Amino acid sequence: MVKSGNNSNNEKKVFKPNYMLVEEAHVKNWEAEIEKGKDIEKYWAEKAEQFEWFQKWDKVLDESQKPFYKWFTNGKINLAYNAVDRWIHTDKRNQVAILYANERGDEKKLTYYELYREVNKMANALKNLGIEKGDTVSMYMPMCPELLVSMLACNKIGAVHSVVYSGLSVGAFVERMNDAKAKVLITADGTFRRGKVIDLKKIADEALLKCHTIETTIVVQHAGNPIHMSELSGKEIFYETLLEGEPDECPVEEMDSEDPLFILYTSGSTGKPKAVLHTTAGYMVGVATTLKTVFDIHNGDLWWCTGDIGWITGHSYLMYGPLLLGTTTLVYEGAPDYPDPGIWWKIVEKYGVTKLYTSPTAVRHLMRYGSKYPTFYNLSSLKILGSVGEPMNPAAWMWLYKNIGNEKTPIMDTWWQTETGMHMITPLPVSPLKPGTPTLPFPGVDIDVVDKNGNPVPVGEDGYVVVKKPWPAMFRTLYKDEERFVNVYWKDIPGGFYRAGDMARKDEDGYIWIQGRSDDVLKIAGHRVGTSEVESAFSSHPAVAEAAVIGKSDPIKGQVIKAFVILKEDYKLTTKLISELQRHVRYELGPVAVLGDITQVDKLPKTRSGKIMRRVLRAQEEGKDLGDLSTLEE
Ligand code: ATP
Ligand code: MG
Repeated sequence: MVKSGNNSNNEKKVFKPNYMLVEEAHVKNWEAEIEKGKDIEKYWAEKAEQFEWFQKWDKVLDESQKPFYKWFTNGKINLAYNAVDRWIHTDKRNQVAILYANERGDEKKLTYYELYREVNKMANALKNLGIEKGDTVSMYMPMCPELLVSMLACNKIGAVHSVVYSGLSVGAFVERMNDAKAKVLITADGTFRRGKVIDLKKIADEALLKCHTIETTIVVQHAGNPIHMSELSGKEIFYETLLEGEPDECPVEEMDSEDPLFILYTSGSTGKPKAVLHTTAGYMVGVATTLKTVFDIHNGDLWWCTGDIGWITGHSYLMYGPLLLGTTTLVYEGAPDYPDPGIWWKIVEKYGVTKLYTSPTAVRHLMRYGSKYPTFYNLSSLKILGSVGEPMNPAAWMWLYKNIGNEKTPIMDTWWQTETGMHMITPLPVSPLKPGTPTLPFPGVDIDVVDKNGNPVPVGEDGYVVVKKPWPAMFRTLYKDEERFVNVYWKDIPGGFYRAGDMARKDEDGYIWIQGRSDDVLKIAGHRVGTSEVESAFSSHPAVAEAAVIGKSDPIKGQVIKAFVILKEDYKLTTKLISELQRHVRYELGPVAVLGDITQVDKLPKTRSGKIMRRVLRAQEEGKDLGDLSTLEE
């Protein structure tokens, strides 16, 4: 019997699985699947069997050089082959693989067969430019089909991609290109953002002045933006011209399971972004398995992940996961509230989206506009919703459940990281849900909440989230910084566990409630208080749209809570509301919630992937240097 959560401010209800979904679910018995997953090697080997290997592995898991784990050793495989080529010999050949749409209402469809030929052409073109197995290709592109084609073309020939989020500034972009010593840069004439065209080529030109490894720049003509082709750094060529005359067949590079696949940076919420390296086979197996199981992907699904390809969510679950499962992935270029806050729901209705994967920050943003917009559209195609990126506070969970899911679609609150590559703590469609928790570790993943000595904490107590055993999609190192890899993640907690950097609490059902980053935790009168719980308490008040809290030094309590709140339309932060909020939060959390001041703000400092940067609020408060701001939103 599942009991309710232990966070005082959380929705007490338990949501039973929707029996219609359970009937068709790949996993019908959660407990049994978790039990099966306890034999980690057997579990993941079985999943790996579902792909096409050129040569099978010798060993599922090699632990001889901890923490430099290896998966599926000596296996030979190619990711693009499994994501694209494999399907053209099946009835998926003419099915849409990529459905591109944008804020202007344009659309473009690529079937698996069309994608196959386009990838081959691009792969041949890259080879002609001198790109060989192991070389790095940088991409600074909009959300457009050519980005996916380019990433897959890299896979096909064994090149490593490094995608730089197209909203990043020149400085961060240069650093990433120089880091990777990329030989080729792929960019575009522009990207659509809120009715304007952002000139990406101009930013790329500026970056190229400071980057000396790029030999060729490929420019996709995407936005109809008249641009200037220069020869700033090597050759510049249009994508279309480059592909002209290239054969649409290209031999597949047989990659070792452990060959590098891509480099990608973390969001930079808690400090300077870290360059994470993922390798081929384990990543592929982990990502495809989790997507299939958590979102129960079947023939006929239309999958929409609203994240950007420039972050891990986009890599794993906008592009690789869905293509590896042979489903249709929607690539949408545009903001959630432009031209109006109903645009996402319009897209859901127009294309009949069945599974929607988004983030708490997007939901909280859309909530501010109230619940009228979703009512303008028919959202009945939706079967499962999902979220990633930050704790999904119960108020946002309920809003999504009621207004978008019509109280029928379960919400998969998935906890994972750039480093983990795949979902780690997450419900499945058969799981009883409690708003505010990602529930239990995915089968085959061994996670616990422990104290600083590595011992599991009792129910209801705070501890560190650790992964106790290796998992297939784990990052293999921080790019060119093995020392930092070992020190940041594997040293702090004894037992050889991976330290995720988040704090959490378990309830009586073992459900894990993420409390926030260990760097952000407050210490009030000797008690550790997670940011998530306090922010959830604020957000559960009808006047509050979003909140962020930090600890402020206090001579008596050590720290007290300083809160920054964004109020919903029509509210003002009067003295009356301040005292009401104080009472409300104290009621929700108990006496430990000692509030200092509450400040009203219009915006919170966030990363470009939408995460609150509490470290910036803290630094501002203490008059300190703001630190690395390369991923801060405008
Ligand atoms: P950096 O490591 O540079 O500080 P980051 O940790 O924000 O940036 P990501 O890898 O994009 O970079 O994010 C992973 C983090 O996001 C997790 O450690 C966790 O704090 C948060 N997170 C992701 N999903 C969830 C979730 N479902 N519930 C709670 N927190 C989540
Ligand atoms: Mg992190």
